[in-house]
Amino acid sequence: MTTYAAPPVRFVEGHGSRLTDDAGRSYLDFLSGLAVTSLGHSHPRVAEALSAQAGRLWHVSNLFGNELAEPLAHRIDELIGDGTPAGGRVFFANSGAEANECAIKLARKGSGPGRHHVVSAYGSFHGRTLATLHATGQPEKHEAFQPLPDGFCHVAFGDMEALGRAADPTVVAAVMLEPIQGEGGVIPAPEGYLEEVRHLCDERGLLLILDEIQTGLGRTGRWFGFQAASIRPDVVTIAKALGNGMPIGACWARAEVAAAFQPGDHGSTFGGQPLACSAAIATLDELQRIGAPRRAEEAGARLASGLEALPGVSHVRGRGLLLGAVLDAGRPAAREVVASALDHGLVINAPAPDVLRFAPPLNVSTAEIDEALAILGKVLA
Ligand code: PLP
Repeated sequence: MTTYAAPPVRFVEGHGSRLTDDAGRSYLDFLSGLAVTSLGHSHPRVAEALSAQAGRLWHVSNLFGNELAEPLAHRIDELIGDGTPAGGRVFFANSGAEANECAIKLARKGSGPGRHHVVSAYGSFHGRTLATLHATGQPEKHEAFQPLPDGFCHVAFGDMEALGRAADPTVVAAVMLEPIQGEGGVIPAPEGYLEEVRHLCDERGLLLILDEIQTGLGRTGRWFGFQAASIRPDVVTIAKALGNGMPIGACWARAEVAAAFQPGDHGSTFGGQPLACSAAIATLDELQRIGAPRRAEEAGARLASGLEALPGVSHVRGRGLLLGAVLDAGRPAAREVVASALDHGLVINAPAPDVLRFAPPLNVSTAEIDEALAILGKVLA
């Protein structure tokens, strides 16, 4: 269906940071399938784990146990605790939107009848299902699909006064935020904002749901974006990089919050199946082995300073290897730059008319960063 514009190229192969199209042309991939292939394409260890599992057991449904879902849940819990178990529980899904659906249902069930509202931020992106679309703070995306599920409202990202007014504890169950708005144009939460939101949620008995679907698993220089703010969320949603391209999502919640779900409240045919879990465990093994957060921080510093020096770039925002280069004022030319970069063999995208987004693999090399900067310099000039 025509849910996306006609694709400009068709890729047939990918290894590391490189893609090849059906005409045999090679490209440097600084988008990673929208912040998904954090270890690069066709990573040998993930491929090996996946093929070994493919010859052993693919799927049994959640009516039965399997040997991988529980260990994977423990691994996620430990990363959320930044090295020590965080004491949470995990529901496995197949995408980011589904992980967020789980978070929203959990907040509704746990907060009880009447207190079912979720406050999120303008500019946010939480998914395309009906509920996550309404949580997404982009009203222009809502119009064609009204009526959307009731119980969502939006406030300006970073505006504590507006949040204070909207977060009425008699009707609100949760506040849902991204530590850095990715699709909204790579906009980090203002300094101190997440701490203040945490404080407000504690005062009013609201859950804090952090959508780490784009920011999670090392990309921002910490395992999770919230760790830079030293707060503890109640619920964290993850997807994208978790399977390095194998579809898998997860909703983590503190054990007391997760306890709201009883058998029959939620489910998924595929969620947590051995094949997807094998890719996720291998991905986490490798991300940990390479020290992904530190790699993202170091490579991100080089990429950011290189971008800042390019003609036509006003400033760079974001953290680690989730960066947005904002073009000079009055030059909403990001789409043209993206198209021209593709012609020159560099894959990036434009989340806003004046913003170029960079989300290369976390194991990107220094030479690849310099090559991307050289291509972009030519394009911008
Ligand atoms: N949340 C955030 C922050 C995202 O960036 C995205 C996708 O871009 C989603 C949710 C939705 O994830 P999915 O497309 O896997 O449903």
